[in-house]
Amino acid sequence: MTRRAGHTDWCGRDHRCNLGEHRSDELVVDLPGRARAVLVRVRTAAGRDHAEIRLRVALAPTEVAARRQLVGLLADVRQAVTRAGIAARPAAGRAG
Ligand SMILES: [Zn+2]
Repeated sequence: MTRRAGHTDWCGRDHRCNLGEHRSDELVVDLPGRARAVLVRVRTAAGRDHAEIRLRVALAPTEVAARRQLVGLLADVRQAVTRAGIAARPAAGRAG
């Protein structure tokens, strides 16, 4: 018996799909030389779906500007995570 049985429609079905998780191919958003985001859809062994996002952003050359950029970036990420967390809540009235 294998835990890899029952792949989802979007599963990449390769070496990344293991340890009880199903993982999609990478979806890349690229702004050459400036920023890059890689999104992977993941279904855990518990059956819950997740979006896994890796983000790479070019920072300003000076330290002060780079730190200002980081502060803004963290605020944006925090907002995105909060919004996504709210959307992922179970529907009101359902037993959790
Ligand atoms: Zn799979």
